[in-house]
Amino acid sequence: MISDQIFNHFIMEYKLPELAYSHDALEPFIDKETMVLHHTKHHQAYTDNFNKVIEKYPNLQEMQLEDIFRNLNTLDIADEDKGPLKNHGGGYINHKMFWEIMGPEKEVDDTLVKDISDEFGSVESFKAEFTKAAMGQFGSGWAWLARGKDGKLKVYSLPNQDSPLTLGDSPVLCLDVWEHAYYLKYQNRRAEFIENWWHVLKLV
Ligand code: MN
Repeated sequence: MISDQIFNHFIMEYKLPELAYSHDALEPFIDKETMVLHHTKHHQAYTDNFNKVIEKYPNLQEMQLEDIFRNLNTLDIADEDKGPLKNHGGGYINHKMFWEIMGPEKEVDDTLVKDISDEFGSVESFKAEFTKAAMGQFGSGWAWLARGKDGKLKVYSLPNQDSPLTLGDSPVLCLDVWEHAYYLKYQNRRAEFIENWWHVLKLV
């Protein structure tokens, strides 16, 4: 008897990344309640909805995660799936990086700090420029430090869950300025959230 099972193939599925620290580890700068909701509800929803697109396309299942976003505009997928892939897939990969660059203890990347100082004059100048980008993003989006193909660092903001990868850049640091990232603790005080966030950015 030939079982149907032999025709099944492994369906690649993305998992909600685990944090390297507890949900209350970034207190008092990012509160536990925000972290729990942001990670287990918002990021989980992006993960689930990203998987709903991925499961339809074996060609996407075979790609490296970053390559999906590098090639986002030329992927062979149905028009109706392009928006969901960009938004939910972007939410998946952007939050994955966001959790990784934060932590309760500083783990300063000296090479990055030197590159930042060389490019922006000083870490303080970089912080000012990054803060301006994060404050200037109207509505939902992220502030980014990204490296261009020429190796140079640059700061900008992007709306929604757009990724620097799709612009041909390599993301280095990111800050979520969607209201869900700060509203429970900071309400409309985005500037105060950004100012406090530097304490939990472990790399700089
Ligand atoms: Mn978010």
